[in-house]
Amino acid sequence: MTITTHSASDDFFEKSVSEQDKINRFLFDKANIRGEIASLNTVWKNMQANHNYPDIIRQYLGEVVAASVLLSATLKFEGSMTIQASGDGALTLMVVECRNDFGVRGVAKYDEPLPEDADLKKLLGDGNLVITIEQAKTKERYQGIVALEGNSIAEFLEGYLIRSEQLETRIFLAADDRAVGGLLLQQLPGQSDDEDSWDRITHLGSTIKPEELLGLDSKEILHRLYHEEDIRLFEPEAIYFKCSCSREKVTNMLRSISHQEASDIIKEQGNIAVDCEFCGKEYQFDEIDIVSIYTEHSQTSDPSIKH
Ligand SMILES: [Zn+2]
Repeated sequence: MTITTHSASDDFFEKSVSEQDKINRFLFDKANIRGEIASLNTVWKNMQANHNYPDIIRQYLGEVVAASVLLSATLKFEGSMTIQASGDGALTLMVVECRNDFGVRGVAKYDEPLPEDADLKKLLGDGNLVITIEQAKTKERYQGIVALEGNSIAEFLEGYLIRSEQLETRIFLAADDRAVGGLLLQQLPGQSDDEDSWDRITHLGSTIKPEELLGLDSKEILHRLYHEEDIRLFEPEAIYFKCSCSREKVTNMLRSISHQEASDIIKEQGNIAVDCEFCGKEYQFDEIDIVSIYTEHSQTSDPSIKH
């Protein structure tokens, strides 16, 4: 295998980015195929810190986390990309946000008891996969929606990418309580001199085992899969845990209940405490806060609500 690192020495590759949480992009130049390998450990642990997910929920949420990083890396945007899977089953919602600089956060919601021996399709039921990209500067939003077809997170996303972006993509994901990992392969537009490359490269990709995605470094994975291919490997990029919650956002959320309801809670409990479901941070509102929130609200139109 020839691995050429793009404008980076091996020394840089080894030391500059945490071994724990990173994404590596690579290119099969002759084949016009791009690839990415993502691995997260610490970030994944932080994401689970305030939750006690059942194993099966943790696995699927972890796969969405890996997928969100892989998908973000294929897109050109400045802002955030959100993957949301929701349906009428016991697993009501999985939502993961990844920013263009690979700051991620995510959460799953579910009703217990979970059905026994349920697979992903059964847990989610009938529903949709929604991908939302919000541009940071303009607040412009692009949204793509597809029905949940298939029985894995990877299949949902492959279906989304072919239907809405016309991009042939294969995704392999793995997650456990310690780590999440993923491999993405995508055919780029344009002609390739190497006609059967897509079949060959995706077939080799499909031999990756979950324990390899979770335990091996990206270089080892590339060597294991593609030692006969020419690969251009780019600098790894760090992934980190980033929650974008703020008092302002929680305030806007509070406005969805009426002033009367808010006052009743204050009367009963002394204040209103709202925990961020992504990072666990607590926001407190007392009577004076509540009065000012609703006074402001009745005087100005609410800029936080967009359709
Ligand atoms: Zn938060």
